[in-house]
Amino acid sequence: MPVTFASFGLIDPLLRALDTLGYQSPTPVQAQAIPAVLAGRDLMAAAQTGTGKTAGFALPLLQRLMMEGPQVASNSVRALVLVPTRELAEQVFESFRQYGAHLPLRMAVAYGGVSINPQMMKLRKGVDVLVATPGRLLDLHRQNAVRFTQLQTLVLDEADRMLDLGFSRELNAVFAALPKRRQTLLFSATFSDAIRTLAGGLLDNPVSIEVSPRNTAAQSVRQWLVPVDKKRKTALFLHLLKKNRWGQVLVFAKTRKGVDELVETLLAQGISADSIHGDKPQPGRLRALERFKIAEVQVLVATDVAARGLDIDALPQVVNFDLPIVAEDYIHRIGRTGRAGATGAAVSLICADEVQLLAAIETLIRQTLPRMEEPGFAPEHRVPMTDARGQVLKKPKKPKKPKLGAAKTAR
Ligand code: AMP
Repeated sequence: MPVTFASFGLIDPLLRALDTLGYQSPTPVQAQAIPAVLAGRDLMAAAQTGTGKTAGFALPLLQRLMMEGPQVASNSVRALVLVPTRELAEQVFESFRQYGAHLPLRMAVAYGGVSINPQMMKLRKGVDVLVATPGRLLDLHRQNAVRFTQLQTLVLDEADRMLDLGFSRELNAVFAALPKRRQTLLFSATFSDAIRTLAGGLLDNPVSIEVSPRNTAAQSVRQWLVPVDKKRKTALFLHLLKKNRWGQVLVFAKTRKGVDELVETLLAQGISADSIHGDKPQPGRLRALERFKIAEVQVLVATDVAARGLDIDALPQVVNFDLPIVAEDYIHRIGRTGRAGATGAAVSLICADEVQLLAAIETLIRQTLPRMEEPGFAPEHRVPMTDARGQVLKKPKKPKKPKLGAAKTAR
């Protein structure tokens, strides 16, 4: 199924607005941000202008304002969007207006260099969304034109530019005035140390999103699929490991049980392996990672808990033993290889059950991944063909005549 705006559970007035604007399908940053923001998560997103990031935060934010929280009180604001410049303030405000055209929400924009009085008037009844530059916002706050007791979400848009423009003192003063319990979304084109420090103090267990300029991931990470029957995945993995003489491999499996079973099999074959998953106590996880880093362990098998934040230098090979349930995790997984200019490879062992997950991933990354059948492992249950529009093509291409030997071993 193609990823659609409707599949995020966006409410009808938002879908109608998107229809009017002619947006047909979400961009990658939207596909990742919308579900996370709707779920109330904090967000740290590396995304530039032109990626569709504004709708990525505005749509779910508008929806949350409709579905949750109290009516806005006078001089209050429920969602605050901080931007570096008046141009961006106007642009973001205009986007909110368009997306929220069919919603009974109040919105305002405020920036310096123009008279403050009309802005104060507008805030008197309270607004659901305020788009503002930091300096003018502080002025309004000092004059009691705006209160933050009802604030539920803070967005920092183009955070790097705000710091570049020297707004860090203003930002800190704003943060100090905001309620501690809130959702915070941080967007930045680049992630310098200063931004990371800022993020560290503001975000609570954020979902992180990286929308690399198109195709950079693909250039440094070679990706392909090997179709296989579910029951034969372990055998195929062992075969590939030996045949390709993989050195260290990071393997992702869907479940804890899957992880443990694979590790057991590997150990039984004399291959050094360890695991990382959510049920394992933290010290055990760290030890597994350390052993892998110092190459005491050849194969590290993990669930998606491990996909984020693992920084392992020069890891050449990632294997998706199972595809991730959440398409965005695919990007995190393959992001473990091909770092810092190194080339990497990511292979996914896919069975017929996983075709919908595959379609979602291909839509997200906007590529149809190449398939390479492994002689002797051609699946009996064919994996239907997919394409980067997320289509599962109904009629799979007629399979090549199975090689007799292959069919036998498949049993
Ligand atoms: P932004 O992230 O604000 O820089 O968005 C860049 C441009 O893409 C804006 O002009 C948006 O109107 C447009 N846009 C955003 N999302 C979509 C979408 N899903 N489909 C088509 N156009 C979009």
